[in-house]
Amino acid sequence: MTSVPPPAVTLSVVVPMFNEQEALPALVERLRPVLDGIGVRYEVVAVDDGSSDKTPALLRDARAAWPELRVIRLRRNSGHQAALTAGLHRSAGAYVASIDADLQDPPEKIPEMLELARTRQLDVVYGVRGDRSTDSGFKRRTAGAYYWLMRRLAGKQVPAQAGDFRLLSREAVDALKSLPDQQQVYRLLVPWLGFPSGEVHYHRDERVAGETKYPLSKMVRLALDSVTGFSAAPLRIATWLGVVSFFTCLAMLVFTMTAYLAGHTVPGWTSLFTGILFIGGVQLICVGLLGEYIGRIYTAVQRRPTYFIADDSADDPAREF
Ligand code: UDP
Ligand code: MG
Repeated sequence: MTSVPPPAVTLSVVVPMFNEQEALPALVERLRPVLDGIGVRYEVVAVDDGSSDKTPALLRDARAAWPELRVIRLRRNSGHQAALTAGLHRSAGAYVASIDADLQDPPEKIPEMLELARTRQLDVVYGVRGDRSTDSGFKRRTAGAYYWLMRRLAGKQVPAQAGDFRLLSREAVDALKSLPDQQQVYRLLVPWLGFPSGEVHYHRDERVAGETKYPLSKMVRLALDSVTGFSAAPLRIATWLGVVSFFTCLAMLVFTMTAYLAGHTVPGWTSLFTGILFIGGVQLICVGLLGEYIGRIYTAVQRRPTYFIADDSADDPAREF
């Protein structure tokens, strides 16, 4: 007897979440009517990124009433981008949208993204934030600097102010899946793929509840991953610093030799000490830069997965999670 394959899923919505117990009820309440209203078969892939609060329990309860909700639980907190990877890799839809759990990105834009992708045959639709007046001044400034730097390093095709709210076609997802990158930074990888793309503009709201799960340390890590994943330019800075110090040293050599020959050698503690400190500092920066890249080569060679899946409700729908 041949089993009938289940009707194909048109849209997957990947939602990475880490300790989002405060935001989760509001998310379910707002996301569900939007997706039900599109009139296509969909799945919501909630990726629980090792939450230690009531997120898993709330997801279990929500699943009981919402069959389209699929829950993937990661073994430990692996980070936003790794959680996104888990969701993208496991999603089944012909189109895959990704959205944060805190409702900063409006779910109402997802049908618009899908419509745009289908009518104009686009593989990527970016959600672009019109203004960030609801983000803190610090977040705005650091984000501004981040996108400025990324456009310079990774290329002009990176849309400014496009985070991880976007829609991808199955082709684009498969292309991402085929990349061997360990530390994926999707907001740069997706534009780099070069698929035909469009934009949907929206207003970024305030986090509906709870606190940001992106402390400064995670922001710095994302920035480092972004830079080192896309550009060897910092290594070139090291070379240029070396060249500049070399020529400065040459000039100093001429100066000291003349002073010596003229018999004007004075005890130059300040200049000597400054010189040593400066060269020492430059060398340490360069060694640190090299270390960043070597660290990445090291993780790439190890080829360890960035996440482990504890369970996926789609593997065993009958089981209680
Ligand atoms: N997130 C995650 N793992 C983490 C940190 C964050 O899955 O280690 C999720 C988080 O639950 C949210 C999204 O990533 O759905 C974006 O995080 P957040 O809204 O805290 O970042 P912000 O908007 O403050 O930059
Ligand atoms: Mg947020």
